[in-house]
Amino acid sequence: MGTFVVTGSASGIGAAVSRHLGEAGHTVVGVDIRDADVTADLASPAGREAAVHAVQAMTDRLDGAVLCAGVGPTAPLDVIVGVNHFGTVAVLDGLEPLLAAGTDPAVVVIGSHATTVTPLEDTSLADTMLAGDEDAALAAAAALPGFAVYALSKQAVTRAVRHRVTAWGDKGIRINVVAPGPVATPLLDATREDALLGAAADALPKPLGRVGVPDDIAAVALFLVSRAAGYVHGAVVVVDGGTDCIARPDAVC
Ligand code: NAD
Repeated sequence: MGTFVVTGSASGIGAAVSRHLGEAGHTVVGVDIRDADVTADLASPAGREAAVHAVQAMTDRLDGAVLCAGVGPTAPLDVIVGVNHFGTVAVLDGLEPLLAAGTDPAVVVIGSHATTVTPLEDTSLADTMLAGDEDAALAAAAALPGFAVYALSKQAVTRAVRHRVTAWGDKGIRINVVAPGPVATPLLDATREDALLGAAADALPKPLGRVGVPDDIAAVALFLVSRAAGYVHGAVVVVDGGTDCIARPDAVC
């Protein structure tokens, strides 16, 4: 059995992933801003560094990680940028040496189907995030609505994963993205309660007649970090009950 880091372990998808990993016999190191083995604020550079150092102090190897920590489109814009992109990438890269020492290591980053269902005219904010300039990204985000900053933060982190397939593949670490659709968690509750975004969230087509539950996402994440997924690398697995097909019926990936 392996040792896994799960960020965002205190709630929603991260809590479900932690429970599934634990039930499978793995050791889980939860990282969250509250109620976790490692308590750290991934919105700040100091919090990200502290999180990585705390994990390094607990283990000299990791067999996987599932990075779920994130905030939704109703959060302050700087927190969306700070947690969803920069926090995720800092933990990802900070843990890479521990993962390289693991057995069949594999990582899943939780993205979002917002990357495909959100109409976006200008994606330059994602480019700025990928360039690693957090100050410039925060300045650019300040001019945009929360739903666009959220979608672009998820686009950037998804691209960041895909950009790592060669370097991480060389080290034997598989890395993939799960892109959920609407999932019943406090994050979705906050979106649905928002005066502007609530109606749009509720109007999303639901071909299966329901929103997801955290276990729907955890099951796919567990498969992706398992040896059964040994040839899945750099994939973006959409788990949204079919909503993306309604938005983009002729897209083939
Ligand atoms: P959630 O609010 O239940 O869980 C998010 C977790 O992240 C919480 O435990 C929270 O404390 C933690 N977190 C937030 N800010 C943090 C910070 N600064 N530092 C450390 N931890 C922090 O929401 P969820 O729906 O389970 O979200 C998990 C992931 O799934 C997020 O990345 C989210 O963007 C993504 N997602 C969710 C949905 C949805 O509809 N719920 C859809 C698509 C993608």
